[in-house]
Amino acid sequence: MNELSSGWNHLRGIEPLSLCDWPGKSCCVFFLGGCNLNCPTCHNFDMAWNMERLHLLSREDMKSFLRNRAKWLDGVTITGGEPTTVPNLGEILYEVRQVSKLPIKMDSNGMLPDILEDILQQGLADMFAVDVKGPYEKYPALTGQAVTAEAAQKNLERIFELAEANPKAFYFRLTKVPILTDEDVETAKSYLPDGFELTIQNYIPPRRDHAHADNEARRPVGDLVD
Ligand code: SF4
Repeated sequence: MNELSSGWNHLRGIEPLSLCDWPGKSCCVFFLGGCNLNCPTCHNFDMAWNMERLHLLSREDMKSFLRNRAKWLDGVTITGGEPTTVPNLGEILYEVRQVSKLPIKMDSNGMLPDILEDILQQGLADMFAVDVKGPYEKYPALTGQAVTAEAAQKNLERIFELAEANPKAFYFRLTKVPILTDEDVETAKSYLPDGFELTIQNYIPPRRDHAHADNEARRPVGDLVD
């Protein structure tokens, strides 16, 4: 598989330092383009659907950045888009770990539980931040009709089983988008296994006219290497 047809072609952004993507840790964030959902409230829609518009970071860019900066970080966050849709995701995570020697957190919408389980079982990530977008019956509206209520329930229940078996490796988040009522939030909370809390994030409407420019404004890794 050449680099352009592999998962490395999805490496489309980096935040060199984040204090809010992994609670309690300072981390860098790598963005992998592509998503299996079509959420109308998406804040990262170029990353999700038009990654070709964004600057491509090479595998060497990533490794060079990590070699130089890992000592200043507590961890690495892998986000998207949706990382579980990326081909050879395991290879990317493996190289991030090999080069950085840091713990890895992966964000996910939870709709591809087989892949997430595989990553967990292989020890390729240490923490998973999974979205619970709302009540199952609102998933079609929340995801641009990409997921039925039944599929959302089936997939999230698989994730909850994994979380119950690995309680230190998961936390759950909900963004309170406009179609969600307070009652919906309570319903979503009730899905979680015992001992888990749902972190509620406020919704800020995306500024679609500026989102592309915002993504392009992320500094290329080459500028960051010491
Ligand atoms: S799952 Fe996340 S990245 Fe994908 S479309 Fe929805 S909000 Fe955007």
